[in-house]
Amino acid sequence: MQGAYIKYDILERPMNFIPLLIMMLTLFSFTDAYAIHKISLDVDVSIEQSLIRGTSRMDVSAGEEVVLMTGPLAIDEIRLNGGPVDYTAADGTIKIMPRIDGEIAVTYTGIFKEQGVSYGVEDPRVENIIDERGVSLTNVWYPVYEGLSYYDLKAAFPSGYTAISESEEITKEMKEGKVVYHFRFPYQVDGVNLVASDRYTVVRDRFRDIELYAYFLPENAELAKTYIESAKKYLRMYEDLIGMFPFRSFSIVENFLPTGYSLPTFTLLGSSVVKLPFITETSLGHEILHQWFGNYVYIDYDSGNWAEGLTTYLADHLYREQKGEGWQYRKQMLIDYRSYVHADTDVPLMSFTGRVDRSTRAVGYGKAAMVFHMLKNLVGDEVFYKSLKDVIGGYRFRSASWNDIRTSFEGKYGQDLGWFFKQWIERAGLPELTLQETELKQAGRNFTLRLRIDQGDNIFQLKLPVTLHFKDRVQTETMNIDGKEGSLDLTLPDKPRKIVLDENYDVARTISTDEYPPVIARLFGDDKIIIVLPEEGKDIYESIIADFQEKGAVSRAAKEITASEIEANSLIIFGIAHPLALRLCGPLASEDAGFSLIMKDNPWNPGKVIAVFQGRSKEEADAAFRKITHYGKYSRLLFSQGINTGREIQETERGMVMEMEREAAAIEVSSIKTLSDVIKGVQDRRIIYVGEVHDVFAHHAVQLDVITGIYKKYPQIAIGMEMFQRPFQKSLDSYISGDTGEADFLKQTEYFKRWGFDYPLYKPVLDFARAEKIPVIALNLQKEITGKVSHSGIDSLSEDEKKEIPADLDFSDKEYRERLKEVFSMHKNSDEKNFEYFYQAQILWDETMSHSVDEFVKNNPDRKIVVLAGQGHLRYGSGIPKRTFRRNGQDYAIVLIDEDVEQGIADYVVFPKPVEGVTTPKLMVFLKAEEGKVTISGFPDNSVSEKAGLKADDVILFVDDVEVKSVDDIRIHLLYKKSGDIVKVRILRKKDDRDKEMVIDVEL
Ligand SMILES: [Zn+2]
Repeated sequence: MQGAYIKYDILERPMNFIPLLIMMLTLFSFTDAYAIHKISLDVDVSIEQSLIRGTSRMDVSAGEEVVLMTGPLAIDEIRLNGGPVDYTAADGTIKIMPRIDGEIAVTYTGIFKEQGVSYGVEDPRVENIIDERGVSLTNVWYPVYEGLSYYDLKAAFPSGYTAISESEEITKEMKEGKVVYHFRFPYQVDGVNLVASDRYTVVRDRFRDIELYAYFLPENAELAKTYIESAKKYLRMYEDLIGMFPFRSFSIVENFLPTGYSLPTFTLLGSSVVKLPFITETSLGHEILHQWFGNYVYIDYDSGNWAEGLTTYLADHLYREQKGEGWQYRKQMLIDYRSYVHADTDVPLMSFTGRVDRSTRAVGYGKAAMVFHMLKNLVGDEVFYKSLKDVIGGYRFRSASWNDIRTSFEGKYGQDLGWFFKQWIERAGLPELTLQETELKQAGRNFTLRLRIDQGDNIFQLKLPVTLHFKDRVQTETMNIDGKEGSLDLTLPDKPRKIVLDENYDVARTISTDEYPPVIARLFGDDKIIIVLPEEGKDIYESIIADFQEKGAVSRAAKEITASEIEANSLIIFGIAHPLALRLCGPLASEDAGFSLIMKDNPWNPGKVIAVFQGRSKEEADAAFRKITHYGKYSRLLFSQGINTGREIQETERGMVMEMEREAAAIEVSSIKTLSDVIKGVQDRRIIYVGEVHDVFAHHAVQLDVITGIYKKYPQIAIGMEMFQRPFQKSLDSYISGDTGEADFLKQTEYFKRWGFDYPLYKPVLDFARAEKIPVIALNLQKEITGKVSHSGIDSLSEDEKKEIPADLDFSDKEYRERLKEVFSMHKNSDEKNFEYFYQAQILWDETMSHSVDEFVKNNPDRKIVVLAGQGHLRYGSGIPKRTFRRNGQDYAIVLIDEDVEQGIADYVVFPKPVEGVTTPKLMVFLKAEEGKVTISGFPDNSVSEKAGLKADDVILFVDDVEVKSVDDIRIHLLYKKSGDIVKVRILRKKDDRDKEMVIDVEL
């Protein structure tokens, strides 16, 4: 590996510059095998030739093998005490074997022209450069000795150049027309860096007795003062927290290359970075803190880099904490962790050396910062800062390991912390907590609460904060978890309204789905993505598609995507009006922007996301897309001409929240209304939904009352009915118009086969509609299609069947999904084995009915519609009403009957007195119909027909004077009978191999 210096991270947040600035930390270990040397460097820089020529001198002992890394340098001469010495040179490394004590001198030359260097993630090293822009030497620019040494640097530049390097003392003199800088740094370091320019303006100031300098290039020179003032603020803050600044001077140096380093006594910040407004607010403080952690106390990389986590915790995180936003920062780190770190990329902190990608950053910065947070909560603030001061005092200019940190903390804390460091430093992963049980019981005047948490087999020892929210107070408890399960038992004087686990994100844990917003980071972190290829505007999204394809995303035409693929992947969709976007996300508000990106949860898989891109032109899309990597934490982004004009994070729960029973609802009895009031209350709306339990007469009586009530004021109405399916609209129309009779109508609409509830339940409404010529609208989808979907999913539909279903299906109502899940689990024995299919069928059913209502409303602008449907399709508006509103924005009201009174469930709930209804008498036979022949296949208990003498296998020819060709013929005939009537049943019975016709009287 090249490069021998420890340089810290790149400036980041709130945007991160990973693609541009990320650098591989090229590391080696300081072990006792390396002797500490005195190295003096004497170099001469020529700008025109992009050349550095120098001599490095180093004291050596006889028999010591000295290894120097020379990388691209040309070695001109190697001498020991002015004479020859044995050495070998290969692969950019020289090995010198001195036989006597003395001084070796290596004379070398390096040429550092820009060579089309890329700073991408793949080749992240910032190269050495010497040219007219300036001098930036932060890689191998002298023969590098691997280990801590004392350095003394003399560097000659053309006059007019200002140079910076690690130093506690700088002198300069003019010599042969050149300016020679002499940098002295009295402490052992692993290497030195050198930067220079002839365009620096230098601003000088002091903090206590510390010299402060700002070296800025002309374009950004006016920022120097702000940087100096911010630096003072940070120095004051950190001296209060962790003790004296370790050096006599500190410089902020602008570099023409995109660096973001903290080096002993200075920070080196790229030009593109210093002008960003937030740098002084976060990154500068972070780099200053590295003066202690990294540049004063060194890092023992062999056992893991702890410095980034600690610096993130006491800089970036602390600044948010000071504003009361610490919990948000911690939540964000846990969101990043779940977005980017997967089982195959996760590493324990002891293996983290430096960030190379988003996953390593989420571990080495994020998780490690959480570890310091938990450590601080465990030992308390006082012990925490005392221990850090102990680390700083004990390891100045030496490398410290996680273990050394542990020792310091144990010393001040007075207790063993081995378990803590073992689980957080040596193990990968985060605990995964699930709530097993919440039990709240009344016990006398108190309540007992029992909470049980499960963390599976990946066991961590944790202190989990539990916050109980009461009506007028908050109580915080701690659940100690040290096994597979943890529990907390409490006696409470009253009932909590809400219980929240880890409300402030004090524990490093896998963030739960309810806390996990759909953010762009999740798209970047996902390795299973399908790009839904746009049918129009392909050129607009060309670069976006190519970019994701390059990262391994699969492309598909919308038609080809199956439901199971949607369930297993994150999706990229182009255009907010794309049918698939509508189906999965519901309608998305169109944004007044050149480019927008909206992230939504994948409604079929809470672990996956849907990204909807919308661009006005290719220019807009390209300009914005280049920047979105910096906005990973957002759920919604707007850009105009590449400038961000809006951003938002979708709100999610704070902590693992359990809503306990809400306060009991109550109704003011004096405010109780009558059905007439309800009718008055709803009649002015365009769409009036009235629910029912299908087989309750009283509900249908209420429906008819509502219809007739509204009809009195608004004769221009229609009735929409769930009970009829769309293909049978014509038969309904001819019945209402009087062209066909009731028997034909029931046959033609296949009422008994498709709906089947006793017709007298619905007859009064239909009779009224027919008498008044009120159109009745068949709302429902064919039973065959819903049946097929609930059995094998939408994917199983044929092309023709797909034409019957609405184009946009909105699956995004999470609460409705939860309610349907409950319904599903209660009917586990039904045919529908798969909840997803059941759910798809329900949505399809609702969307079709909503589509039918909408179609009618649009085609009949002067009519209201009263919709009759099962209450399940109407509760909370989830099934039909909100979906219709989505389509047309028309006002509506919901009336439910005999329903629980809950906030938001409906506009009105009506409680009718029971109504007796005449039901259709039954023959009480099981029938099978084949080829126009209806045969008795058996009898239920106490069958009137069996009693009258009918037998199994009898073929029914007539009932009274009606010829029987189908079961419907019998059913329709019976509609006009009542209990006690006699029906003459003419049958064909096989007897002695002969068919014999008989007539049997059955008393109903
Ligand atoms: Zn850092």
